Amino acid sequence: MNQSKESVLFPRPCDLLVRADIIVTQDAERRVLHDAGVAITDGLVVAVAEYPHLEATYRPTQRLDMGGKMLMPGLVNGHTHLPMTLFRGFADDLPLMEWLEKHIWPVETQLTDELLEIGANIGCCEFIRTGCTTFLNGYFNEYVTGNAAYDTGLRAVLGEGFFHFPSPHFPTAEDCWQTIRALDARYEGNERIRTAVTPHAAFTVNPDELQASFELAEALDVPWQVHLAESPAETTLCLEKHGKRPVELLRSLGLLTARTTLHHCVDITDDEIAALADNAVNVVHNPASNLKLCSGVSPVQKMIEAGVTVGLGTDGASSNNQLNMFRDMALAALIGKVRHNDASAMSAQTVLDMATVNSAQCLGWPELGRIEAGCPADMIALDLASPNLVPMFSPVSHAVYAATGMEVCMTMVAGEILYLYGDFRTIDMQALKRNAFRAVEWVRSKAER
Ligand SMILES: [Zn+2]
Repeated sequence: MNQSKESVLFPRPCDLLVRADIIVTQDAERRVLHDAGVAITDGLVVAVAEYPHLEATYRPTQRLDMGGKMLMPGLVNGHTHLPMTLFRGFADDLPLMEWLEKHIWPVETQLTDELLEIGANIGCCEFIRTGCTTFLNGYFNEYVTGNAAYDTGLRAVLGEGFFHFPSPHFPTAEDCWQTIRALDARYEGNERIRTAVTPHAAFTVNPDELQASFELAEALDVPWQVHLAESPAETTLCLEKHGKRPVELLRSLGLLTARTTLHHCVDITDDEIAALADNAVNVVHNPASNLKLCSGVSPVQKMIEAGVTVGLGTDGASSNNQLNMFRDMALAALIGKVRHNDASAMSAQTVLDMATVNSAQCLGWPELGRIEAGCPADMIALDLASPNLVPMFSPVSHAVYAATGMEVCMTMVAGEILYLYGDFRTIDMQALKRNAFRAVEWVRSKAER
């Protein structure tokens, strides 16, 4: 519709008008609205306000009445390895290094694209079901995860992972850089899929290759993400190999920047936290994974007070074993209090910020994680009739402490409904289950060799 015609019409047209009992906006003022609505056009939020006002102002093509529900931004998962759903429950109860070296890596190197696709689709399904609308990934053959995310309607930042060269996937560094450039070109201009440069860790990639990969991230203008300071065992390895602790190593290489997103940061000193804050480095906290692998508990409250932006991630499904951001929110709040010996540490609002706006910043996608005019219409609804959400005093408290993720009854990305009351609109659930059974047989057969 042209501008002159639109200006004479009142009410204004919009594609979709959503009504809900409560809206947790996560906007700059952290407003929580009651009997409110969201007007959406072309996949973007055009207005968030009390419902009677929107009803008088907009003439929607479609309406979605979410009475008895609470709308909130789609959660942003700052760190995962999506196809690792294939290894959910496959090698539990082991420490990080033994788990990786003896169980995960030997089978992982044999994965085919077909299996990666099955794993990625299982992950997308779990994200949609538990209210995660965007994720920052790290794995190999990332176009497979890109296709799964795109086809199921999610947003993703794809990180083609690499170790030092030669590796099973890349004979030389240049082969790896070419693959990353091609992945970035493949999704150029795509509204839902972006890329990041993703070295595995400071102890698995050589310093000169870390630096070269950072230069590539600068050239492509994408985030640079790496696992760092995940456990005391990693620090020991890093000291043996480079004579420096992990954060110190990155600092010496000039890799502490605003483009940098570090995953875990469990074994980290006060001086290192100050260095992260001074250089505007982003950190993603992965509480379930850190607990399960017995890596330790990250001093997140301390980092936040120092001015570090800390997002939240699930990590892969083999070290969690869920991809459910609601559970990681609850864990972040609960273990954060014990870590700091302070019940007021890691408040519900702090943790909800981590899972929404902070994670969005870690992805280099700051317009996500909020329901605000001009931002993408990525949102979820929780069913307030769920007994564990009754009674209701504080919507933010319920989102972090009381909700399990299974109260999610609607998931929307860019104004498109992906899930509504049990119906997955972009996923063939029967095919997904059949493929999951096949994948289990394959993983078993490889592990037994
Ligand atoms: Zn990880």
